[in-house]
Amino acid sequence: MPTSDRSAENAAVRHRWTTRTRAVLEALRRNDRFRTPQQIYDEMRSAAAVSMGVTTLYRILHKLEEQQLVETQRGEGGELLYRAYDGSATHHNLVCRGCGHAERFTVESLGHQTGRVAQRFQFSDVNYRLDVYGTCRDCNQPSE
Ligand SMILES: [Zn+2]
Repeated sequence: MPTSDRSAENAAVRHRWTTRTRAVLEALRRNDRFRTPQQIYDEMRSAAAVSMGVTTLYRILHKLEEQQLVETQRGEGGELLYRAYDGSATHHNLVCRGCGHAERFTVESLGHQTGRVAQRFQFSDVNYRLDVYGTCRDCNQPSE
């Protein structure tokens, strides 16, 4: 294959990737709930957005996470949930196990405490997560 064909093909692949990435971001920004990739996939399908396989969606989500355009949160069952990241500082999420709605909170002393524990046991490069789950008010409402 001549070089020019190949670069045209690369440009087409890049273009498709960009279009799909934009569609994923748009889907994520439609609401601020944490969702599984399958839920995002289903939403995109029903919105007749750009079509892509689940594998591609996973790759795009991973890429967006690296670029800090999405934030992730472990669901109670260990599955990874995603939502668009708005760039706010270190925080934790209280996540509704029913609908993925999340409230942010910070624990002032947590970073400090973690640092002290790490120091005591001579650990370095310490990272931590605090995940809190519950049922939000909307999900608690009895359905009529
Ligand atoms: Zn809820």
